[in-house]
Amino acid sequence: MVTRPNETPPQEFNPWLHVCSLIESAGELLGLDEGMLKRIIAPERVLEVAVPIRMDSGEVAMYTGWRIQHDTSRGPGKGGIRFHPSVNADEIAALSADMSIKCAVVNIPYGGAKGGVAVDPALLSRAELERLTRRYAFSIAPMIGPDRDIPAPDINTDTQVMSWIMDTVSMLRGQNTPGVVTGKPLAIGGTLGHAGATSLGVTICTAAILQRMGRLANEQRVVIQGYGKVGAPLVKLLSDRGMKIVGIADIRGAIHVPEGINHLRLAEHVAEAGTVVGYPGAELVPADLLFTLPSDIAIPAALGGFVTEDIAKSMSASIMVEAANGPTTGEGAAVLASRNIPVVPDVLANAGGVVASYFEWAQDLQGFMWERELFQQRLEKTMHESFNHIWARHKDLNVTLRETAIAVGVERIAEATELRGLFP
Ligand code: GLU
Repeated sequence: MVTRPNETPPQEFNPWLHVCSLIESAGELLGLDEGMLKRIIAPERVLEVAVPIRMDSGEVAMYTGWRIQHDTSRGPGKGGIRFHPSVNADEIAALSADMSIKCAVVNIPYGGAKGGVAVDPALLSRAELERLTRRYAFSIAPMIGPDRDIPAPDINTDTQVMSWIMDTVSMLRGQNTPGVVTGKPLAIGGTLGHAGATSLGVTICTAAILQRMGRLANEQRVVIQGYGKVGAPLVKLLSDRGMKIVGIADIRGAIHVPEGINHLRLAEHVAEAGTVVGYPGAELVPADLLFTLPSDIAIPAALGGFVTEDIAKSMSASIMVEAANGPTTGEGAAVLASRNIPVVPDVLANAGGVVASYFEWAQDLQGFMWERELFQQRLEKTMHESFNHIWARHKDLNVTLRETAIAVGVERIAEATELRGLFP
């Protein structure tokens, strides 16, 4: 696990091998030497921890967790923590490399990291979840810190989980340490604007690519795969810009509403039913057929690996914006490229979250909180500039937006690595 690609690639989609091949292609495009490429690909630090917790029943349950720092040449590691049964070392390694590239693409002073525990938090009580979080935080504590590696929320983790991590580390160190995690509640060093920042970045990128392609927002039908932390705010933000959300999927199925979904009615329905399924007047469609519904923009906003070759072949939309991390397989990306469907890649499209984290961390280190307007203005500026830069470079390089973004990220990491030299 977490080794370099070998001659016999596994049959199943392996996100780590996939990200290695993306970085290798970027290296070729940039003419990087092999030694540099090897240094950029290999994760710097991989920690696997046992996470035993006492269940409410009195029994002991055992889980496994990871924290991986992929690259810290540009700054401390940065990246979320996810709690999901599918979490494993290869997935976390891939996501940590994505974070190194993402932070470089939006040019914030961080490297990349990621963590997770293989657990289904829906099966835990709140007290069990707290014990799991604190035990995991304790086990990775030597590796994290405001100057080392700063976790944040990801799939199935939230402001409460961040609060427990912040508290555990603060107790261990005997000092208040708000800068050790981002995505905290306001009361303990969080920032105005963090919630929904990823979705805002996705919205800015969607509007920007429409503008570049000469298309009007109010003529776009959108399908969104996922109605969670990122997907749910997107329904409102994209509707506010005049787009019509015609399909949404969650784990229970997909809904199709050709005349457009009302974000308020959907939020009310989900609050009651716990799923998008059953939205009044919607046709129920199998979740894997969501992207075949007549649409103009497809947005994967859930787990990785959804956009396979088959999904890409049958996709109706003519633009894809990746709100999820790693939603597209290599084969899926090749099909979309051959169909001339532009894709705003994850490392650009969903970077609003980590940019918001950077602003939160900067405020924590300074002990000086910004007003919402300043936060919003800086977030929008960073996303616009990043999009414009990648768009301009992709015209020059004449490769896809994904290849461009990864090349720009790898180029910036290589520059930092070169400047710092090779220790000792
Ligand atoms: N989990 C988010 C991401 O994948 C945010 C990471 C962060 O803020 O550190 O980009």
